[in-house]
Amino acid sequence: MPLLMIPGPIEVSDRVKEAAAGAPPGHLAPDFIESFGAALERMRRVWLAGDDAQPFIVAGSGTIAMEMAVVNLLEPGQGAVVASSGYFSQRIAEMARRRGVEVTMVEAEPGAAPALDAVEAALAKGGCKALLATHVDTSTGVRVDAKALAGLARQHDALFVLDGVCATGAERLEMEAWGVDVYLTASQKAIGLPAGLALLVASRRALAARAGLKALPPMSLDFEQWLPIMEAYEARQPKYFSTPATTLVKALPVGLDEILEHGMDARFALHERAGRAFRAAWASMGLTLLPKDEAIAANSLSAVMLPDGVGPDLVAAVKARDVVIAGGLYPSLKTQYFRVGHMGVVLTRPADLEKTVRAVGEALDEKGHAVDVDAAVKAFQAVFAG
Ligand SMILES: *Cc1c(COP(=O)(O)O)cnc(C)c1O
Repeated sequence: MPLLMIPGPIEVSDRVKEAAAGAPPGHLAPDFIESFGAALERMRRVWLAGDDAQPFIVAGSGTIAMEMAVVNLLEPGQGAVVASSGYFSQRIAEMARRRGVEVTMVEAEPGAAPALDAVEAALAKGGCKALLATHVDTSTGVRVDAKALAGLARQHDALFVLDGVCATGAERLEMEAWGVDVYLTASQKAIGLPAGLALLVASRRALAARAGLKALPPMSLDFEQWLPIMEAYEARQPKYFSTPATTLVKALPVGLDEILEHGMDARFALHERAGRAFRAAWASMGLTLLPKDEAIAANSLSAVMLPDGVGPDLVAAVKARDVVIAGGLYPSLKTQYFRVGHMGVVLTRPADLEKTVRAVGEALDEKGHAVDVDAAVKAFQAVFAG
């Protein structure tokens, strides 16, 4: 298998693979019940959420988790502000519009973060039930200031929903301390599992918002359908609403444990160091980033502009070197940049990271952009070694 360096799905550890292997358990099996309960408990700790916050584990994808947040917190006629940093912010805005919500977009140019004063001005107009944002927009590689956005939401009495699909478990987020109401992700990103689980933690305020809805959410996404199931499994009792993804849930506490064993501070610091090391390698190759400012460049992935004369077929030339990277995603810039994911277990394998730097450098060189590959690898190592 080639080395998977896209921004999700990511490489999966041997322990997670082993935990997912074997006969799929039934949803009433004692070991499965224990895994489900343990995963819920560990989610609170990875999310840095309070004891009263409610984790949900539902079969699905990041998009399902986004939709779940939208339909449980908002109903037709209510207002929401979307602080947009790219493709996935636009997606959650469209979900809200389809729910009949009045959406105010605070846009940023691709590569920029939405301006906090513009977000504040939109909230100050009133009538905003929720502020929605994307922690790391995987299309642009931009990380927003989640702590500041949460503060603005609190100040204006709005709920704060943060899409963490390319960030949770990699970028610092303190759900309770910062006051985030829904922080959501999917299993195949920095959590380090195969794809197939929508993962979300909701605050008490978020649950109260659901309880106050007049327009019920679709049944399969409804917090109140799932809440008794989550409470039962956490009390180590099975309860049925809709069959969980048993194979993946079996592996989830193992993946979360790997993160917790590392320690959240150390985990965030490792991703930060990896982000800086990759940026040093790109700079050494004479490349620039799509994010306009290093301070908002994500640590979980790099979005890097293609140099003059090199097209999006760079991705295939890297693949020929056994490393899979991703092309652009932001519609108007799609053919002008490439993306490299650097999150999860692969960060414990420096040789794989150096292989990635080497593969990109050699491929650029082959395409006519001269690169001193050894110098790029050294630039990476100098930062990654700390
Ligand atoms: C990947 C991603 C999604 C979508 O997740 P899927 O599992 O593909 O549905 C949403 N938001 C962000 C920020 C992502 O990176």
